[in-house]
Amino acid sequence: MKITSAEFLCSNTDVGKCPAEPLPEYAFIGRSNVGKSSLINMLTQRKGLAKTSGRPGKTQLINHFKINDNWFLVDLPGYGYARTSKKDKARFQKFITRYFTERKQLLNAFLLIDIRHAPLPIDLEFMEWLNTKGIPFSLVFTKADKLKPGAREEALEKYFDQMRAGGWLEIPPCFVTSSSKTIGGDELLAYIENINVNFRAARP
Ligand code: GDP
Repeated sequence: MKITSAEFLCSNTDVGKCPAEPLPEYAFIGRSNVGKSSLINMLTQRKGLAKTSGRPGKTQLINHFKINDNWFLVDLPGYGYARTSKKDKARFQKFITRYFTERKQLLNAFLLIDIRHAPLPIDLEFMEWLNTKGIPFSLVFTKADKLKPGAREEALEKYFDQMRAGGWLEIPPCFVTSSSKTIGGDELLAYIENINVNFRAARP
């Protein structure tokens, strides 16, 4: 898929105020500093579309972008930032939970993971939660340029082994990306396009 237009629509914390158009929607979420804004900018080929975080944990909003007048890309707040207060965490949990459970047009969540990190409880818990809610998700490993190709494979295998040890029988679809070296974006966009096509074909 070639991205011909990417338009910022709105930011809010209330799922009820998200755009009403029934376009297919894809959410991007992960720990603060995982490289989410950089990935969104790489995918859309627009440098400043998602604000790269000078201060992690700052943008606690649901951000909607309309892509190709055809689907929504949603930039969700980064989680797990140590300096976030308890109150902020509770607020975050509330509106994110509502977003995921109430947003009907959400077709897939992309959970971003720094390829150098072993599975973190916060990410594993979130995957389990998505799974129990029946929300399809994929893993997007970021910052692949930080590892040599051999080490990337090793890191992925280790990650998947730990997921299996934690009870995952099937590993979700996954993507290996680098925004610095422009890796993995085409595959991710092709995946989205495929879901869009199937979604529209299934509609009466
Ligand atoms: P966010 O908080 O998840 O939105 O993360 P940002 O996109 O703001 O990136 C956090 C930091 O990681 C910044 O210093 C980026 O320059 C860096 N970063 C993001 N993506 C990559 C990548 O693919 N490779 C490398 N080497 N650094 C990256």
